[in-house]
Amino acid sequence: MTKQITKESDLYPIVQKWMMKHFHCFKSHQNIGLKHGRVDVIGVRDVGGSLSGEVETIAIEVKRGVEPFATASGQALGYQVYANLVYLAEVRETEFKPSEIEIASHLGIGLIQIKGTKCREVLSSPFHRPITRMCLELLEKMALGKCQLCGTFFETGVATNYYSKLSREKFAKAVDQEKGLMFWNRELATRKNKAGIKVTLDGSTHERRFICSDCIQNVFPKVSS
Ligand SMILES: [Zn+2]
Repeated sequence: MTKQITKESDLYPIVQKWMMKHFHCFKSHQNIGLKHGRVDVIGVRDVGGSLSGEVETIAIEVKRGVEPFATASGQALGYQVYANLVYLAEVRETEFKPSEIEIASHLGIGLIQIKGTKCREVLSSPFHRPITRMCLELLEKMALGKCQLCGTFFETGVATNYYSKLSREKFAKAVDQEKGLMFWNRELATRKNKAGIKVTLDGSTHERRFICSDCIQNVFPKVSS
């Protein structure tokens, strides 16, 4: 007899483990909290081939299969503000019904069947275009930042400190310690402040940008500290 799973969060590791392998993700997280909501399981994968550092984000809403299907589907669809691919993963002993697949197709979400400790992609998600700043906010919560030079997303830190693998505007230190670089765009911050778009605290700017350690080491000329 299979163990009765009572909590939705007990399913997260099952879905996360499957997702890492199935979608070839290089990083994933569970239950990530954002300004406008939470994402049950999120993964990031490289899709740029050999000529680009483009990544794709995959968000999965996990359900035990007891909620109304259209409501759960709507919740999964909401993830499109953050992610490129959005899925609803539900516990099912039997197949999804044709009308449920019809709803998912109509809305534009993918479907994953969870059976015991196994997952199966039943319907693939169409590609969504998330709101840029919200997608970047999500990636930052995973300690991933975009390199302004090569365009790839790289690890800027760890869960407890998103920027621990970066030097703050100290180029020589970044070279010596093989770290990435973090810098601030002051002109843009001033412009946004004037327009009332973003108010900075204590006169400092939050317009942070990054350059990965690969670019620091290989593109810029070596400098001695
Ligand atoms: Zn780079």
